[in-house]
Amino acid sequence: MQNILIVEDEKKVLALVKEGLMGAGYAVEAAESPEAARTLIRNNKFDLIILDVMLPGTSGIEFAKEVRGGGWSGFILMLTALSTTNDKIQGLDAGADDYLTKPFEFDELLARIRALARRKADNKSSLKNGTLVMDLLSRSVSRDGIRIDLTTKEFSLLEFFMRHLDKVVDRNAIARQVWGTEFDPDSNVIDVYINHLRKKIDNPFPRKILKTVVGQGYVLQKTE
Ligand code: CA
Repeated sequence: MQNILIVEDEKKVLALVKEGLMGAGYAVEAAESPEAARTLIRNNKFDLIILDVMLPGTSGIEFAKEVRGGGWSGFILMLTALSTTNDKIQGLDAGADDYLTKPFEFDELLARIRALARRKADNKSSLKNGTLVMDLLSRSVSRDGIRIDLTTKEFSLLEFFMRHLDKVVDRNAIARQVWGTEFDPDSNVIDVYINHLRKKIDNPFPRKILKTVVGQGYVLQKTE
């Protein structure tokens, strides 16, 4: 985790973040618009894009989708002034790995970057549970050799389960690890995503492995 691109149209924020990150030893490029960012992404190998949501022309969310759609597989950290659950989910669904709500402390930004670097360091290139296989580089999933198309968020959710096989995980743990936040306990967002995932990885197959543990959470059962 060394090369960082910041995309932010507010010059003051852009300059502060750029100087701070350079002071912390990162190589940093800055773009004030999605157009400028496109050119930089084409010509550089970035590990991380720090992407503001509010940008002229193309929103950060649209831009994240575009970048992911083009196959870019580095980390995206979204900066957002919006703090409702729905906006966060939109950003994460668009392919962001994490987000930070403005205004933020610079130390918090550094901490998030270090957390992403750790995720990168312990990443294996694939995760397997019996015939269920996740390729973390091509971000493809298959079971019994049949390709399964997952959204970005469903992929993250499955990855979390694959890293915690046979362990019951509660909704708060899922929210923290997959969405990077606490959820309103009354929100059914996680249950909705679990159902989507189950339809894809379990329903078409005889053996069901993503189980609900009533009153406790969910578990992805280990298979041989
Ligand atoms: Ca902005």
